[in-house]
Amino acid sequence: MNSVALITGAGSGIGRALAKKLASEGHIIAAIDRRDDGLRSLADEIAGKPYAWAIADVTDPPALIVATRELEAKLGPIDLLIANAGIGAETSGLNYNIDVMNKVMTVNLLGVSNSIGAVLPGMIERRRGHLVAISSVASYRGLPRMLAYCASKAGVNAIMDGLRVELAPLGIDVTTVCPGWVRTPLTEKLEGTLEHILEVDDAAEEIVYAIKNKLAFYAFPRMMRWKLGFMMMWPRSWQDWYITRTMNRIKMVGGES
Ligand code: NAD
Repeated sequence: MNSVALITGAGSGIGRALAKKLASEGHIIAAIDRRDDGLRSLADEIAGKPYAWAIADVTDPPALIVATRELEAKLGPIDLLIANAGIGAETSGLNYNIDVMNKVMTVNLLGVSNSIGAVLPGMIERRRGHLVAISSVASYRGLPRMLAYCASKAGVNAIMDGLRVELAPLGIDVTTVCPGWVRTPLTEKLEGTLEHILEVDDAAEEIVYAIKNKLAFYAFPRMMRWKLGFMMMWPRSWQDWYITRTMNRIKMVGGES
C-alpha cells in the first residue's frame, strides 16, 4: 500500500498506534493534532518512513483545510482519512454543564465533519478514497455520565452511514469503527472495571483489519460486540438495568482527556 493516510489526533493513543502500524505497512503518513509534542516524537518512532505532520484543531475548519493542503503539497493527495481526534469528559444530567456538553460534541462530531470536509472534494474529483471515522461502542445508546460522548459518536455513525450510500457509486469507501475500551490517555482517567479493555496496539490491528477489508461498520472486541448487540435487542427498561450495573463499576476521575 502506498497511499497517503491522513490521521487526525495522531499524537497520542489510537491515532498514534495507527500511524505506526500503517507506516510499517507502507502507507505514507500525514498526521494532524492540536499539540505538537506527540507528532514530533512520532517522527522518531517511524523514522525512515514517509511522514509529515501539521498542527491544527479539528474544530477550526479554515486551519484544518490549510494544514491538509500543506500536507498534500508535501506527500500527495489524501487517499485515506482516519478521523480519529476525540475527547472524553464527564457529562451528566445531575450536573448539566452546557459548556462541557458543547465542547465534547464540537470536537467529536463537528471535528469529524470538518475533517471529512477537508478531504472529500478532492476524493470526489479523483473518484477514489476511503473515509474512516473512529466512533465508539458508546454510540449504540446513551450512557449515564457520558451524555455528550454518546451523542457525538451516534452523530458520527449517522454521517458515515449516509455518506456511505452516497459515495459508493463514486468509488469512495466509508468505514465506521466502534472500539470498546482501549488503554490510552483517554481512559487513564477512568477507574474501576473497564470490561474487555484492549491494549492500544491490538486496537490498531483491529482497525487496520476493518480498513483493509473496507468494512462498512466494525465494532470490537468481539465479546463486547456480541454483548452489546444482544443488549440492544432488549426492551429499554432491561437495557437501563444492565447499563446501570455496568456503569456503576466505573468512576471518572479528573476532567477532560
Ligand atoms: P487520546 O486522548 O490518547 O488521543 C486523542 C488525540 O486527539 C490526542 O492526541 C489529542 O491531542 C487529539 N485531539 C483532541 N482534540 C483535538 C482537536 N480538537 N483537534 C485536533 N486534535 C485533537 O485518545 P484515544 O483513546 O486515542 O482516542 C482516539 C479516538 O478513539 C477518539 O475519537 C475516541 O473517542 C475514540 N475511542 C477511544 C476509546 C478508548 O477506550 N480509548 C474507545 C472508543 C473510541
